[in-house]
Amino acid sequence: MRNSFLPFSKPSISEEEIEAVARVLRSGWITTGPKSAEFEETFSRYCGAPGAVALCSATAGMHLLLEALGIGPGDEVITPSMTWVSTVNMIVLRGATPVFADVDRDTLMAGAEQIKPCITERTRLIVPVHFAGAAADMDPIRRLAAEHAVMLAEDAAHAAGTEYKKKKIGAVGTTIFSFHPIKNITTGEGGMFCADDPELLAAIRRLKFHGLGVDAYDRNSQGRSPQAEVLAPGFKYNLTDMAAVLGLGQLARLDDFIARRTALATHYRELLAEVDEIMPLSVPAYEMRHAWHLFIVRLDTDRAGMSRNSFMEELKKRNIGTGIHFLAAHTQKYYRDTLSHVLGTLPNTEWNSARICSLPLFPAMSMEDVEDVVKAIKEVLAK
Ligand SMILES: *Cc1c(COP(=O)(O)O)cnc(C)c1O
Repeated sequence: MRNSFLPFSKPSISEEEIEAVARVLRSGWITTGPKSAEFEETFSRYCGAPGAVALCSATAGMHLLLEALGIGPGDEVITPSMTWVSTVNMIVLRGATPVFADVDRDTLMAGAEQIKPCITERTRLIVPVHFAGAAADMDPIRRLAAEHAVMLAEDAAHAAGTEYKKKKIGAVGTTIFSFHPIKNITTGEGGMFCADDPELLAAIRRLKFHGLGVDAYDRNSQGRSPQAEVLAPGFKYNLTDMAAVLGLGQLARLDDFIARRTALATHYRELLAEVDEIMPLSVPAYEMRHAWHLFIVRLDTDRAGMSRNSFMEELKKRNIGTGIHFLAAHTQKYYRDTLSHVLGTLPNTEWNSARICSLPLFPAMSMEDVEDVVKAIKEVLAK
């Protein structure tokens, strides 16, 4: 057994990044300023996005989008229930109705096939989720959204560096990224809203900072224009320069992180091929670059004779950390109570929600760490 605990995720922060954050701290300007502007420019160049607005989280980005589109009571937003619950929370807090698309049983993603039956005349927005670093099959989804004249916004929290048909996620349409510490790059907490619609970008930029017509930082006045006035009430969702400078360092290393994650994931897939009770997610066949944000497996609970939760407990006793991405939103307490009619209607989502488990995957892991995880899994299953 390992003598040290292996967490399921751990950020890779370099000494240079720590030094860069310290320089911002010493500079006299620590909130949104030149580093945030540089991070927006560098990130949009990296993914080929026409424009980007740095935010304090992806959740903030979803909230601002719903606000900017005026989505509220009577409106429906389609998203998978197999997602982080923040999307559903924002929809519900706006007074709108979440409509859940089921997912493919083996990729955990909703495609056009699953989204189509959810569309009604009340549908205002579709939020596909790129899952675990894989890209959702966007071409059919884009065609479907265009046919019904419904807005699309991609949840790209797992997809920094992911490519779909030779283009980075973020290059097309509206996308929201997250830089929470478990994601492929981190700013501590943070997010990026990318879009190709200049009016939408301007609305997000205004709403993220009190509804002022200016950013938190005005390049021309080297500070904030003191005369700025509220154009419409807004929020306080800007990203600090302390965080942005960390993001700049992380972004420069994203491709190396993905290469390392890919090597580790490949090793997992080879070693787990011989473990019958463990089924990794499958990699979609269409053209994409997988960013390997998470390594998710499903436990065949019948064959293993144990629940997913006991499986995770047993791994923890052997110093292996794991996670769940995600417990389906509609199965959680508040949504069980308020959306009880949904339970039982999303078979693939519910089947996976009870069986998925994320194994350790982060760039600083060694191949031996992967072997330790698989050894522990075999031990647990042999019990
Ligand atoms: C992490 C995550 C979010 C939320 O990101 P935050 O930056 O923490 O707000 C949204 N959707 C998915 C799928 C996520 O994994």
